Amino acid sequence: MERLDPASALVLDAKDVGRRPGAMHAVERTAGAPADFGTDVIAVPEGQPLALDVRMESVHEGVLVTGTVSGTAVGACVRCLDDIDLPVDARFQELFVWPDRAEHHREVDAEHDQDEEHQIVDDMIDLETVLRDAVLPSLPFQPVCRDDCPGLCSQCGARLEDDPEHHHDVIDPRWAALEALAPLAGSQGSSETETNDEKRN
Ligand SMILES: [Zn+2]
Ligand SMILES: [Zn+2]
Repeated sequence: MERLDPASALVLDAKDVGRRPGAMHAVERTAGAPADFGTDVIAVPEGQPLALDVRMESVHEGVLVTGTVSGTAVGACVRCLDDIDLPVDARFQELFVWPDRAEHHREVDAEHDQDEEHQIVDDMIDLETVLRDAVLPSLPFQPVCRDDCPGLCSQCGARLEDDPEHHHDVIDPRWAALEALAPLAGSQGSSETETNDEKRN
């Protein structure tokens, strides 16, 4: 198992709350966002501040961690490609189990997916996975700068918000093809050639 870095602001020290059930410890701090904290279209950039407001509560099996995380995700509007700042504000609550209680906890809570079980490792509680699970599902798949963003012109890419009257005289592609042929027909006399061919046959 990867060793947790006690210097990381995303890691809490379980010793701060101890093992006496009912004990509480509050932590307020700002941590730098980990890498890839978001999706391809919108994310909190690595190292940007995540404000954590956390309450640790000692329970029989481990430490119940309850809190909020807030920060600012950045991305681009999928319609007009403008930069977007999106406030992120998520709540979480997760039980971190003491290693010596983990076996028992699993028996009691057999339904619980073991992959999702969080353990206290070397007296440390790593919040990264919990924060990801809290924040990432709340991010929009298709972020927009505002709900009625008109986006870009499909013909030329102009910003429709800057130029609402914007339009193009659309020529039917079939007429456009004929217009392109017309001058050729006149200059090369292709119709005459056809007529000659018919006579020979
Ligand atoms: Zn937009
Ligand atoms: Zn246009």
